[in-house]
Amino acid sequence: MTAQSPRVAIVGAGPSGLYAANALLGGNEDVRIDILDRLPTPYGLLRYGVAPDHTSMQGIQRVLAEPFASDRVRYFGMVELGSDITADQLRAGYDAVVYAAGASEDRRLDVRGEELPGSRSAREFVAWYCGHPDAEPQPLDGMDTAVTFGVGNVAIDVARILLADAEHLGQTDMPQHVLDELTGHGITDVWVVGRRGPEHATFTTTELRELLNLEGVQPVLHDPVPDDPEDADRRVRQNLAALRDAAERVVEAPRARLNLAFWRRPVELVGASAVRAVVLERTALDGDGRVVGTGEREVVHAQLVLRAIGYRGQPLPGVPFDPEAGVVPNEDGRVVDAAGPRPGEYVVGWIKRGPLGVIGTNKSDAAATVRNLLTDLDSLPGPSGPDAGTLLHERGREPSTYADWERIDAAERASGARYGRPRVKVATWHALFDLVRHGRAGGPLEREGS
Ligand code: NAP
Repeated sequence: MTAQSPRVAIVGAGPSGLYAANALLGGNEDVRIDILDRLPTPYGLLRYGVAPDHTSMQGIQRVLAEPFASDRVRYFGMVELGSDITADQLRAGYDAVVYAAGASEDRRLDVRGEELPGSRSAREFVAWYCGHPDAEPQPLDGMDTAVTFGVGNVAIDVARILLADAEHLGQTDMPQHVLDELTGHGITDVWVVGRRGPEHATFTTTELRELLNLEGVQPVLHDPVPDDPEDADRRVRQNLAALRDAAERVVEAPRARLNLAFWRRPVELVGASAVRAVVLERTALDGDGRVVGTGEREVVHAQLVLRAIGYRGQPLPGVPFDPEAGVVPNEDGRVVDAAGPRPGEYVVGWIKRGPLGVIGTNKSDAAATVRNLLTDLDSLPGPSGPDAGTLLHERGREPSTYADWERIDAAERASGARYGRPRVKVATWHALFDLVRHGRAGGPLEREGS
């Protein structure tokens, strides 16, 4: 290490990257940190993954913002690894690089018809209602039935957002065009379909109960709820209890139905030019505990299919990647490749351990990686080249700053005040760009149409 203050680059300003920054600041009083992100808006999945009606989660933003109050931290927004700066340049410019890129892809069902219009990934749908500037429009016109595959918390989130009433959604920060679409559609049936039983579902009880108890929505359970398995943990017992309660619940004159169907897997999405139905096959577990089809089939007429079967990490240019697991191979957060450890490279969050756990899980996960980084620091060779700020400047690139984000933040709050909401998200690159470059939105703050 050089006698100068140690320099660390963090790639990704989501929860895992910002928890890592916090842990670094707390663990070394000299460290200087540059946080790079493709977006001018920090907070990653907190901003673009947490359902907008889970407003209590937004309090976490205050904690995640803490590193930016330090003069030892700089934010380089609108900087993409690979095209604006390479992993080699970062390795040369810093004592250590921490990859915190999350999991930006989704798993595929691999069934016929998956490419039909109307078949979408829940990740994209979430990105749309959270106002991500890359999100494709998600028109819901002419639809009456939606099916989500997967029984994790993402499936629960998208089902709830589709079924929630206008008053509930009207208190959120979703872009106005999204709110208009979600409060104007005619979807009255949402199916949540699991390939195994409710005792195997990964959703958590608070989220499940919230969905089961939506105002004006009749839960319809398509299978008997099993008795508690002997080895069931508390979460599973509470989930099954919530489902038993829901089976008893009668909603007078319901405006919509939530259909819960377990032990079914999709075998085909059917339609000439768009999804019109899904073919399901009943399932069972074989002697090895694997899901197998029984041959018994059912058809559900639906126009929207949302795959909520898990996210996947994407390879980062110039960084080792395990395509099977969808993660950067590592030992306790220290990046490794086939030749062994790669000193000075670290990884945190979903790109380290896979897409599991809630936002808060990233705190201990990042702290564990940072402990190893700080232990290694004295033995690392230290920088041999310019840092990201110098490099980007030399290349005529002007990254966005934290002050730029604060302007976006202020514009969103001002827009919220106009609509009687706490905030309305800026949802287009055009408007984000104007706020960064000119301090004001030259164009509309959100997408025209849906
Ligand atoms: P998840 O919890 O891993 O759930 C994925 C679901 O997809 C499982 O039910 C899985 O079933 C199913 N699945 C996988 N492959 C399938 C296939 N080929 N066909 C049919 N079903 C398939 O993932 P997630 O819902 O994406 O959530 C990711 C993480 O974010 C989780 O840790 C979650 O708790 C967290 N999260 C939390 C919140 C919250 O706290 N409110 C909100 C959103 C997300 P098997 O079990 O049979 O594989």
